Amino acid sequence: MNLDKAMVIVGGGQCGARAAHALRLNGWGGPITLIGKERRLPYERPPLSKGVLLGEWDASQCEIYGEAFYREQGIDVIVDSAVVAIDRQKQFARLGDGRSIAYSRLLLATGAAPRTLAVSGHDLPGIHVLRTDVDANEIARELLPGRRIVVIGAGFIGLEVAAAAVRKGCSLTVVEAAPRALMRAVPACVSDLIVNMHRAMGVEVRFDVQLRRFVGDSRISGVELADGETVPCDLAIVGVGVQPCVDLAAACGLPVDNGVVTDVTLRTADPAIFAAGDVCSFEHPLFNRRVRLECWKNAEDQARMAASNMLGGDEESRFVPWFWSDQYDITIQIAGLPSLGSTTIVRETGATSRVFFALSSDGVLVGASGIGTTGEIAKDIRIAQDLIAKQARPSPATLADRTVKLRSLLVAEAQ
Ligand SMILES: Cc1cc2nc3c(=O)[nH]c(=O)nc-3n(C[C@H](O)[C@H](O)[C@H](O)COP(=O)(O)OP(=O)(O)OC[C@H]3O[C@@H](n4cnc5c(N)ncnc54)[C@H](O)[C@@H]3O)c2cc1C
Repeated sequence: MNLDKAMVIVGGGQCGARAAHALRLNGWGGPITLIGKERRLPYERPPLSKGVLLGEWDASQCEIYGEAFYREQGIDVIVDSAVVAIDRQKQFARLGDGRSIAYSRLLLATGAAPRTLAVSGHDLPGIHVLRTDVDANEIARELLPGRRIVVIGAGFIGLEVAAAAVRKGCSLTVVEAAPRALMRAVPACVSDLIVNMHRAMGVEVRFDVQLRRFVGDSRISGVELADGETVPCDLAIVGVGVQPCVDLAAACGLPVDNGVVTDVTLRTADPAIFAAGDVCSFEHPLFNRRVRLECWKNAEDQARMAASNMLGGDEESRFVPWFWSDQYDITIQIAGLPSLGSTTIVRETGATSRVFFALSSDGVLVGASGIGTTGEIAKDIRIAQDLIAKQARPSPATLADRTVKLRSLLVAEAQ
């Protein structure tokens, strides 16, 4: 490997920061440049829709490493300039400020950006998305008691915002175009429980509802639906999903398919360029399909793996996906890909806590969704992760019977 050149990481988010550190941990002594454009050091996003909205966390507490850490590690961090082009022939990244940085290996960790709604009024003040600390601080300032808020999209971000806003004394309406919440993430029985919880907290949740336009003069005053009804509001949060930031990869000729296409080792079509985190669309060996994950743990796992493979390793990204969401006093944890299941088995793990296991049509455990208190679901979800990794075919009766320890299934698998 050409040691004159640097390891360059494009994207100063969670995955980028962890990858930079992992390169050092893996023994890389040469230059590392981490390039971001958010004008601040990389930080974790999960608290933004939880503690930061509630005013319990300051966005600055979300920083992954402080300035001194990067200095000590000899990691050159650029926080205020986007990479605008990659020259694959000459192996350098060109920055918006005119600089060029040579690389021997480059990691694309450019993450994802919120989808917006291209309808009339979309740029009125009072309409927000939530991805960055700036977004979170702006929304937090607007969550005042008595305010009427419309959340567009019953995905995890929208529902977390709704939960925080209810706690701040706001009145909430969630409108969703699909027939139910969290369509791609969990089975209907799980999303129904979550929606019922919101309704019990006074949130109006409406499905099969299309937005026609945002209404208002100098600021949003309502959202007009496809049937002509206008729901009045003081604030709207658009939570209709994200799209991977693939422009840079596409512009330099790398294949893109709902993310930057990589193989199972996170290498793109160019062996000097890797992708990881929210932007990465990779072949998942456990599920025999291309997946792109949008979760904290994937950013952690793939950062470590990409770093190791940038240094010549050949590790495979076969981690079982794991995601969590906190809403009101409950937590939701998801292992694997429950959407691939054709049968759902429920296990009561506490008075109101439940774990729903998803079995594929040939009986393989492909996912598990827990809803309840952390203490009552986390252990079973952890064991489910191990079972999914082993592509176990557990008996539905055992999964459902809370008197049988789930761990016994792992032991049975090992025999
Ligand atoms: C509000 C919120 C709450 C969340 N809550 C949870 C949760 O509870 N549980 C969970 O598992 N996951 C959660 N997530 C998801 C999790 O935060 C993401 O999966 C994770 O941030 C992905 O990390 P990443 O580094 O791949 O991408 P990002 O965090 O998006 O970072 C990518 C960075 O690259 C930068 N960038 C893009 N293009 C360029 C360029 N050309 N040049 C330079 N820089 C560029 C971007 O500005 C960004 O800073 C949440 C996400 C959000 C937004």
